[in-house]
Amino acid sequence: MTLIETDILVVGAGPAGSLAARESSKKGLDVLLIDKKAEIGTPKRCAEGIITRTLKEANIEVDSRWIARKIDAIRIIAPNSKELILDNNVNKLPDTGYILERKVFDKHMAMDAIRNGTKVMLRTQAKTVERKDDYLIVKAVSMDELIEIHTKIVIAADGPESHIGRQLGLKSNTDMKDMASCVQYEMVGIDKDNPNQIDIFIGSVAPAGYVWIFPKASDVANVGLGVLKTYTDDTALDILNGFIKTHKETQNAQSVEMNVGGDPLGGILKERYDDNVMVVGDAAGFVNPLTGDGIRGALLSGMYAGHVAADAVIRKDYSKNSLKEYYELTENNLNRTYSKFNRIKEFMLTLDDDALNGIVDELSKTDLDEISVKLLLKVILKASPKSILQIRKML
Ligand SMILES: Cc1cc2nc3c(=O)[nH]c(=O)nc-3n(C[C@H](O)[C@H](O)[C@H](O)COP(=O)(O)OP(=O)(O)OC[C@H]3O[C@@H](n4cnc5c(N)ncnc54)[C@H](O)[C@@H]3O)c2cc1C
Repeated sequence: MTLIETDILVVGAGPAGSLAARESSKKGLDVLLIDKKAEIGTPKRCAEGIITRTLKEANIEVDSRWIARKIDAIRIIAPNSKELILDNNVNKLPDTGYILERKVFDKHMAMDAIRNGTKVMLRTQAKTVERKDDYLIVKAVSMDELIEIHTKIVIAADGPESHIGRQLGLKSNTDMKDMASCVQYEMVGIDKDNPNQIDIFIGSVAPAGYVWIFPKASDVANVGLGVLKTYTDDTALDILNGFIKTHKETQNAQSVEMNVGGDPLGGILKERYDDNVMVVGDAAGFVNPLTGDGIRGALLSGMYAGHVAADAVIRKDYSKNSLKEYYELTENNLNRTYSKFNRIKEFMLTLDDDALNGIVDELSKTDLDEISVKLLLKVILKASPKSILQIRKML
């Protein structure tokens, strides 16, 4: 059996894993990044939307090869079809966005890690991990051969179905009730008035979730939805197919790709680090619980973990205490806001179609440049007075 020794092993070459590898390689250590897939980034399980500032936060230079579309407007469609358009030219949105080409983006992130010194092994799946003295033994299958990897630190970037953290004793899995079932088609023949605007359909059209149309070209878009299974007996696929047949944007479109996957919406897991291990990205629930976007949480948590792992190896101390900075960085820079979004999500789940219709109607009459939490609460209470109890609980 082949034996590999490394300072840091990163399991999973999604955005979280590649950023972790890039960051720890910068300090000249031995970093190995493995992925069970034959091609990084494929298949994509993502609608590919990202907020512009995320790239700056993660020190990523924009490259036109992985940008499909620039986004400067959001259209929110209420259950009664009333629309609220947030347009950067009119409303001064806090930020613009991009629709990425994830298959190219993910590969680029792995290439950046390689350029900084990371070694990558494809078709290499971590199977088991156990502690021995002050290091870890990971058994993996690489190109059908059993291999053993000895590492000082493992960064578990193994996505929503993660098991590496759990094998090391962490309660690092999202409760199934908080796992959104997502399904999506990439479609051609889309009929959209503004191809630089994303569409979000809210309400019972997608129970406890929303339908998205994220444009990638003038007549191409990712069309998908996420739903919480405890709120519906229908499958996510049946709901999406029903939506596509009945909406003018998608009625005449055909799909060229289909993606299914889980999106962990329960918030960031507390148990995300221990002796010799840090869990990053979807594997630790780094997903905005309100919107379901996880690329930002993956990139930033990966970047922090890579940096902390490298310092720990240089100090020769891989204990939980030595890795605590990872917890603090993610707590301060991600969890504070995600916890607030989680409370807003819980509130949104209490609103029925009538309340959502009223809120969208009121907001469309409001000067959104003046928007503040106080004004938003006023609008919500005007549209849905019974929400007062839920708002009190949330505050
Ligand atoms: C349908 C859908 C739409 C979405 N849309 C958006 C969006 O528009 N914007 C947004 O920000 N987020 C979106 N998300 C969420 C986003 O895709 C994820 O949050 C993001 O990909 C998480 O990155 P990651 O690196 O943590 O995990 P992943 O991207 O899942 O990468 C994990 C990697 O680990 C590998 N792996 C797993 N187990 C092992 C193992 N044992 N050994 C070796 N390799 C392993 C996998 O092959 C994979 O490459 C969406 C999710 C879904 C399901």
